[in-house]
Amino acid sequence: MIKYKLACGDCNETFDSWFASSKEYEKLKNKKLLTCHICNSQRVEKSLMAPKLIHSKNKKKNNSDLIKLEMIKKTVKGYQKFIKDNFKYVGENFAYEARSIHYDKKENIKGIYGKASKKDIQELKEEGIETHSFPWLKEKDN
Ligand SMILES: [Zn+2]
Repeated sequence: MIKYKLACGDCNETFDSWFASSKEYEKLKNKKLLTCHICNSQRVEKSLMAPKLIHSKNKKKNNSDLIKLEMIKKTVKGYQKFIKDNFKYVGENFAYEARSIHYDKKENIKGIYGKASKKDIQELKEEGIETHSFPWLKEKDN
């Protein structure tokens, strides 16, 4: 025995119905022996709202969200690699190093990157030192 959720195309009712097999369902449908329990209409179909279908749809959506997240991670990692290859890491000393480059007019120095608080960035900005914030992935997230 197999249970299908059926939906009526006329009155929009859905109801459960038992069949010996999926073949029996097809047979009854082809012979127009499937009728709506409520209004007797013959426009009865297996409901597309079956829980199984809803479940697999949600799963697909989650997968594409995951793919998007992976793509963002890849982009961020690409930037991180560029920064690591082209800039000097100064860690917590970022604000200090940024000032020393700015005030000592070190022209040929490599760019720097490191950690700075919002307050640091604000103060640097007020002193006319340009900084760019960038989302940084921790190594363990890679
Ligand atoms: Zn109906």
